[in-house]
Order: sequence, then C-alpha cells, then structure tokens
Amino acid sequence: ATSFGIEEALQKLGIKEVNPGTSTGNKWFSGEDTIASYSPVDGKLIGKVTVTTKEDYEKVMESATAAFKTFRTIPAPQRGEIVRQFGNKLRELKEPLGKLVSYEMGKSLQEGYGEVQEMIDICDFAVGLSRQLNGQTIPSERPGHVMREQWHSLGVVGIISAFNFPVAVWAWNTALAWVCGDVCVWKASEKAPLCSVACQNIIAGVLKENNLPEGISCIINGDYKIGEMMTNDTRIPLISATGSTRMGRIVGAKVAERFGKSLLELGGNNAIIITPTADLKVVVPGAVFGAVGTAGQRCTSTRRLIIHESVYNKVRDAIVGAYAQIKIGNPLDETKHVGPLIDKDAVAMYLNAIEKAKAEGGNVLIEGGVVKGEGFESGCYVKPAIIEAKNHYEIVQHETFAPILYLMKYSGEVENAIDMQNGVAQGLSSAIMTNEMKEAEKFLSYSGSDCGIANVNIGTSGAEIGGAFGGEKETGGGRESGSDAWKVYMRRQTNTVNYSDELPLAQGIKFDL
Ligand code: NAD
Repeated sequence: ATSFGIEEALQKLGIKEVNPGTSTGNKWFSGEDTIASYSPVDGKLIGKVTVTTKEDYEKVMESATAAFKTFRTIPAPQRGEIVRQFGNKLRELKEPLGKLVSYEMGKSLQEGYGEVQEMIDICDFAVGLSRQLNGQTIPSERPGHVMREQWHSLGVVGIISAFNFPVAVWAWNTALAWVCGDVCVWKASEKAPLCSVACQNIIAGVLKENNLPEGISCIINGDYKIGEMMTNDTRIPLISATGSTRMGRIVGAKVAERFGKSLLELGGNNAIIITPTADLKVVVPGAVFGAVGTAGQRCTSTRRLIIHESVYNKVRDAIVGAYAQIKIGNPLDETKHVGPLIDKDAVAMYLNAIEKAKAEGGNVLIEGGVVKGEGFESGCYVKPAIIEAKNHYEIVQHETFAPILYLMKYSGEVENAIDMQNGVAQGLSSAIMTNEMKEAEKFLSYSGSDCGIANVNIGTSGAEIGGAFGGEKETGGGRESGSDAWKVYMRRQTNTVNYSDELPLAQGIKFDL
C-alpha cells in the first residue's frame, strides 16, 4: 500500500503508530489498552488507538457540558462560520482523508473521496442552515396574545457510528449539531478508529484558530462498552446511533428508559423492482453498483431484485453478464471495482449466508467464495455472488453485509412486487425501474414503498445530502442530513405572550376570584 501514498496520507493527518483515543479538542488522553487497526486491503497494521477509560470519559463529559454553556450563546451564523472553515479544511485534506478511509475501511478510493465530499457538502448545507433555524408564529385564540415556536440548542450529542461510513456519518451529525449550538462526543467504530483520530485532528485545528474552548468536539474510542457509557448517561439528551438493528434494539431501549432521544440509523434490506418497461441501460449499472459497490457494505446496498416474469430471463442474463466484468482487488487501485470486506468475521458471515441460501433452496447463478493468491493476502476479498431465491427465505429476510444479490420473480401487477419489496422487517431504501408513469406513482404513493427512501429509475444506494436520510421499521425511524433533519438536534419551545391588560384563559374557561 505504500505505493499508493498511504504513509504520506497518515503523516498529513497526524496519525502515529499509537494514538491517544480520547480527546476534547486540542487535549488528548491516553489509556493503557489499545485497539489495533489492521487494513483489510493488505492485512497490515496501520496503527493503534488507546481505549477510553472511565476517568477520561468523565473528563470528556465535564468538558463537553461546560463547553455547551458557552457554545449555545454564540449566534448560530457565527457557529456556521466555524463549520464553513471546517469544510474548507476538508477540501484541503480530501486526498489524504479519502485515502485513509479507503485503506482502513476497504472501500474504493473513489468512494473514499466521495465520502469526504459528502462531509464537505453537509458543511455547506449546515452553513446555510445556520441562518434558517426558523421557528414560526401561531395565531392565538385569545385577544392581545401571541404564540410562537422557537428552536433552542439541545446539549451534548452522543454519536455512535458504524465502520462502513467511518467519517461521513460523524460529519452528517456534527455539522448540523454544531450550527444548532450543540457539542458532540463521538464514539467511532472499533473497526475504523484511526478515521476518528484524523477527523478530530482536523476540527481541533479549526477550533484552536477560533479560540474556542475544549469540549465542542470530543472523541472516545473502544467497543460497545464505551458506547454504553454514553447510552446510559443522562447528561446526553440525544444519542445518534448508526449500525446494525441488533445494536439499535439495545441502544434505543436504553436511551428510552432514561427518556433520552435517539436517532437510529440501522440496517436495510433494499430492493429494486424491475418492471416490463424498465430500461436495461439504467437497470444494469444501477443494480450492479448497488449490489457490489463498497463490496455490498452500504446500508443502502441492493440486496434483492424483484423482476417481472416477462423480462426475468433478459434481466438476469444482463446482470450475470455484467458481473463477469467486475474486477476485484486493491481498492486504492482505481481500475478495481470491488475491494475487501471489513474483516474475516464479515467473510465468515458472507460464506454462511450463501450456505444458508443454498440450504433453503436457492439456486446459485454466480458462485461466491474467498479470493486467494497474490494481492489478496488479507483474506478479506470475496466474489460478488448472485442467487435466485424466494423472498420468504429466512436468509433473504436478513441483512447480510456482503455482496450477495438475491433475484426473485413477480407476476401480474406492480402491487405484487410492492408487497414483496415491503415484505421484510427493514425499511431503508427502495427503487423501481419503470417507464410507466402509473407504476412509478403507485410505488411512491401511500400504498407504495414503505421505505424512508424510494427512488424511480435510479438504484437504492448513493443518496444526496440534501434529502432526509433514514428508514422505517427495523431501520430505526431516524432521519439525518438534509431537509428538516436539523430539528432533532434542537429542543422545541412554545411561547405564549400576553400583551393585553386582561388574563383570558384558553378554551374560554372562567376562573373568577
Ligand atoms: P454494529 O452495530 O456492529 O456497530 C455500530 C456501532 O455501534 C459501533 O460503534 C459499535 O461499537 C456500537 N455498538 C454496538 N453495540 C452497542 C451497544 N450495545 N451500546 C452502544 N454501542 C454499541 O454495526 P457495524 O458492523 O459497524 O455496521 C454495519 C451496520 O450498520 C449494518 O447493519 C448497516 O446497515 C448499518 N448502517 C446503517 C446506516 C444507516 O444510515 N441506516 C448507515 C451505515 C451503516
């Protein structure tokens, strides 16, 4: 990997052999235990990060709660100015940060750069938003009264992130939370901890240049036990957690128990419906990128194709043909389409899912398997597989975070395909390929897709930051990024002001003394 400029990238990002894993901004704290970060690209040790201790977590929380009291008093557009500067720093460091994402997580370099671009985009969005955290006025039923609604800063936002978007998820949350006047504590995935150190180094520089206090941007590191410190902490009014449904079930319940708010972004089981009028020129790249991009490790990866029986053979053959062109290999090499899975546990889950699909009656069209030989020494590279399956198979009902695509047929009207698409526990992303206006509108209607994201003539993956991002059912119901997702980072206050000389009560109630 040295030939791809990784050493230089690590240096530019301030990554050392052993990195303190806890920080309140420009102050760093070191525990004794470490997490080693190995690259799935070549199996080499990239660096270590120390695990946050209980004592250091307390220092972080003291710093963050104190910082919030100052930060919320800074006018929102001035907070936007900090985020603007942060976006500019990301522009300068897009190349090294994108490379680190690619090397530590294993996604293609293009997607690594794309992830940093998303961070830049959300910063721009947040800067504009910093002048638009608008409330509203509401007509009062009483004379001489006015009602209004205001949005106030919420407090410390706890961010728990997954390995597959090791930098963008943090930025979607922080860029908005900061303009809203909140401060953030981030626990990154233990599978990509160096990304958190790199991001913290970048924002710490910006905060220092602006003479801002410690505690506005904090990181902690470690596994779920470190995450639990935050979920149980009543000083954190909002936990934004991205990861598996298994994690969300635990985190959501714990946060609810203490009446905290949670924003859950959990697993998907995304399908594309391919109708008789679908254009193959759009279907093939949409489905193939969706299924094999990021080696099937996007929450929005395409897992199921629901194809009308009248075009089934044609679509199947086109997709199978396209898979023959896929080049698996080092994701830093821009001629490759598919990089490795995150680790060997993920490889085991992938192999297990293929076996289960076969045992349930699945017909394998493209065999999977682990890629071996020179360049694949990490043992994390797998072949994208295609299996003909039924929607009710247990394995099809579950999200396997790997490049396995299930093909299934529908007959009759589009409603039958929509039923299949909705017939899973998850509800993140969905798509229909059609040139029939009525089919497209049915899919988008109240009786159409039940997902948070529903697309027409594009695939399931690759959302833009301008829209609200998230999904229903076991995907957790949270929304982040664009639209009015900012509201979850603030608290709403309803005000009624009486400027008359009387005290009329609401609902006409009389209370004469
Ligand atoms: P994961 O659930 O194993 O871990 C995610 C994070 O949660 C990690 O930081 C982990 O340490 C933490 N965690 C786990 N258990 C916890 C607990 N009990 N308390 C507190 N923290 C805990 O997920 P992963 O393997 O890193 O990521 C893959 C999953 O994430 C997939 O299911 C994918 O669909 C999902 N994902 C969803 C979105 C979305 O926006 N909907 C985006 C990216 C990834």
